[in-house]
Amino acid sequence: MRIVVLAGGIGGARFLRGLQQASPDADITVIGNTGDDIHLFGLKVCPDLDTVMYTLGGGINEEQGWGRTDETFHLKEELAAYGVGPEWFGLGDRDFATHIVRTQMLSAGFPLSAVTEALCDRWKPGVRLIPMSDDRVETHVAVTLPDSGERKVIHFQEYWVRLRASVPAEAVVPVGAEQAKPAPGVLEAIAEADVILFPPSNPVVSVGTILAVPGIREAIAEAGVPVVGLSPIVGDAPVRGMADKVLAAVGVESTAAAVAEHYGSGLLDGWLVDTVDASAVERVEAAGIRCRAVPLMMSDLDAAARMAVEALTLAEEVRGA
Ligand code: GDP
Ligand code: CA
Repeated sequence: MRIVVLAGGIGGARFLRGLQQASPDADITVIGNTGDDIHLFGLKVCPDLDTVMYTLGGGINEEQGWGRTDETFHLKEELAAYGVGPEWFGLGDRDFATHIVRTQMLSAGFPLSAVTEALCDRWKPGVRLIPMSDDRVETHVAVTLPDSGERKVIHFQEYWVRLRASVPAEAVVPVGAEQAKPAPGVLEAIAEADVILFPPSNPVVSVGTILAVPGIREAIAEAGVPVVGLSPIVGDAPVRGMADKVLAAVGVESTAAAVAEHYGSGLLDGWLVDTVDASAVERVEAAGIRCRAVPLMMSDLDAAARMAVEALTLAEEVRGA
């Protein structure tokens, strides 16, 4: 079975690990979000691609959910001693090596998709990981700074990591997305898929950014195979992070049902909500999306694998309908 998954960072990566356990023989292609990418210290950093690669390759810091295991921060400290920041973005020594290799290859003229493939030669994530685009896309967020009252557009990482989403996101813009082309292999993988899954990734700045690359949303809608998503919102709040802030920016309430309606029945055939949101099932089905309430907390690998089984079961139900 060929499965295509649109993934952000932590939510996507943890779900993928479950999917691999649930469906060990499946041929999985991951289309990764690159809207979080940022240039730091002259290096190209791709947080979501790396989170997927490290998680599936066994190099992730499990507690944190991002960055490397057994990490040290000497390089960052040395840079800070020179007054070279930003200090708010945590890049460890082991992690730096990934960004150096990536930047070197990009400078030599390789596209990001080829670079990602080369990095994965080391990590062997067991999936084909393709960035959504080889073109530069950077998510920016419009905010009003509390101290100065100044309205400013800042990089998503600055909003998320430095400000910790402490002020409202007034707008979220995937800068460059309109001009971006899907990376080689993206549209082909979608066209050849048997099932397409949206893991419990951020619907705005992860899955939403991937869908903003012209051609990807259309290809999914026209693929003619089941498209099933899992809610990242449980009990009217994000399980981790601050997805409610960016959902508000696009006028979507932080509920499992509202996120399903936001994707819409033109895209989604099936949607899983957590059992605590069982009352949302009726509303989602009224929107033309088949819906089931099942446990959606990825407390461990087995729990994530059970979620993957539920998603694939719902996909088959939709296919048969
Ligand atoms: P990021 O790029 O690291 O922010 O990761 P993603 O976009 O892939 O996923 C972030 C989303 O995952 C957040 O909105 C969380 O609510 C969601 N999430 C994290 N852990 C879980 C979980 O155990 N269950 C569910 N349902 N959602 C989760
Ligand atoms: Ca991310």
